Amino acid sequence: WTEGTQTDAENSLTELAALAETAGSQVLEGLIQRRTRPDPATYIGRGKVDDLGSVVFSAGADTVICDGELSPSQLRNLEQRTKVKVVDRTALILDIFAQHAKSKEGRAQVELAQLEYLLPRLRGWGETLSRQTGGSGRGGGAGGGVGVRGPGETKLETDRRRIRHRIARLRREIKAMRTVRETKRARRTRNAVPAVAIAGYTNAGKSSLLNRLTGAGVLVEDALFATLDPTTRRSTTADGRVYTLSDTVGFVRHLPHQIVEAFRSTLEEVAEADLVVHVVDGAHPDPQEQVRAVREVLGEVGADRLPELLVVNKTDAADEETLLHLKRLWPEAIFVSAHRGSGIDDLRAAIEQRLPRPAVELRVVLP
Ligand code: GDP
Repeated sequence: WTEGTQTDAENSLTELAALAETAGSQVLEGLIQRRTRPDPATYIGRGKVDDLGSVVFSAGADTVICDGELSPSQLRNLEQRTKVKVVDRTALILDIFAQHAKSKEGRAQVELAQLEYLLPRLRGWGETLSRQTGGSGRGGGAGGGVGVRGPGETKLETDRRRIRHRIARLRREIKAMRTVRETKRARRTRNAVPAVAIAGYTNAGKSSLLNRLTGAGVLVEDALFATLDPTTRRSTTADGRVYTLSDTVGFVRHLPHQIVEAFRSTLEEVAEADLVVHVVDGAHPDPQEQVRAVREVLGEVGADRLPELLVVNKTDAADEETLLHLKRLWPEAIFVSAHRGSGIDDLRAAIEQRLPRPAVELRVVLP
């Protein structure tokens, strides 16, 4: 369902399809319904569920993906009515993050986010369980089959406790890993090496630009979220100053809050940079919306007070008219094509110009 315009809904659905393909699905059909709010029981309208059922049947689909977060009961109802697996946007994004996280810290953060998503949903199953067994809570009572409800509840409680323990443990581990990262960062600050963070919407071309700028062999994928774990490379200015360039987590609209929370520490690293190179995909149907979404997240982690250099990428794939429009909109932006290499020298010069001059460090070594 959507309360926005048709175009908003279509863009969002196109993105959802790209996400689904990233996760390894083949997308068959899209279905949009305009409503003021989701149906509490079935998310889309009850009548629309029948349409969905026939689309699923005629397309031979085995999964329905909803562009929003479903409540446990909406998910159950939709599965019962469509007879196929139903996944929401949050679960899909968590799945992709899980597939792509490579570092130990990244993996721990994703697992934490998944468990936080799962925990309230376990309660949903628990409620069904006690309803089915006629129990009205602890201590048994009329209609409650003690022998049936007891073990069920115990199992649920054990599961929940186990998950809570695991969550607590992951939080501790992530905190410890974060300390290590902060120590490294402190060393960098002491050495006065300026840091440039490359931020931008997912698939904007951050990894490709990092490769162009430093010759680093970073994995480039035509898939959303290829970049989860930040990569840092060193580069040198024309006059011999060293600086670091880091590529950051890709941003996407409606990022599940569990993920924003889990990746907060990684994103906060952006706030420690001296300059943010904000990459926009000039060939995307709505670059302005992407810029807005990225700036919103940057603001959330306190990186909006940093100097920002806007870079419009993929000029080779964008049409002339759009580029002219974007040039008028963002006169300060640098226009590049990471593929063709055009504009890269200008970008390098613009970065160097904005880097802080390192403070002169005096070290006195006492005997
Ligand atoms: P990231 O998610 O922001 O790190 O984006 P990537 O660097 O992984 O690039 C995403 C996709 O866009 C890949 O398929 C790249 O090949 C493609 N891409 C990157 N830069 C350009 C460019 O300048 N022109 C075109 N046409 N495609 C590009």
